[in-house]
Amino acid sequence: GDSFDEECDYLFKAVLVGDSAVGKSNLLSRFARDQFQLDSKPTIGVEFAYRNIRVGDKLIKAQIWDTAGQERFRAITSSYYRGALGALLVYDITRKTTFENIRKWLHELREYGNSDMVIVLVGNKSDLSNTAREVNIEDGQSLAQLEGLSFLETSARENLNVEEAFLQMINKIHETIS
Ligand code: GDP
Ligand code: MG
Repeated sequence: GDSFDEECDYLFKAVLVGDSAVGKSNLLSRFARDQFQLDSKPTIGVEFAYRNIRVGDKLIKAQIWDTAGQERFRAITSSYYRGALGALLVYDITRKTTFENIRKWLHELREYGNSDMVIVLVGNKSDLSNTAREVNIEDGQSLAQLEGLSFLETSARENLNVEEAFLQMINKIHETIS
């Protein structure tokens, strides 16, 4: 490893889950590299990306896993979830079915993930709020409240709340492990 590995206080894994095309890969590329792609190809997924974050006097290395498009076939395996301390559970505010499927993803997270996994519910594509919204912000909020999750609406495209969503997850994980 590089010199950072020796200085890093914590290394942990987090995962991205949610239906195909909700914006998972773009949220990750925005967070890890500040990049956005108009036409992302679902089959060309990176396995994971890293970002180093300082929380107080601790240096945290977050390893965030993305799917390579397996979610289209409901073929995410248990190894994807194994050892993950956090998850961003993503839907697309312009497609109601992606919100309805959140329960299915939550079930999978709870079946395969750590019982104390930190889960942040994310309604992505908030830049399309005025033109194409199908899921009210209140519906996201009440589901999150019911299930005990954090909640944010984001736009990977406009870079709105992306940093906040990841940092909320990372800070909460840090609280649970320190
Ligand atoms: P994934 O299948 O969940 O990984 O979704 P992608 O990141 O590949 O994104 C699917 C499509 O949605 C792509 O065409 C992206 O450009 C688009 N997209 C992703 N995030 C946003 C966003 O915040 N706003 C808008 N308008 N489009 C987005
Ligand atoms: Mg993807």
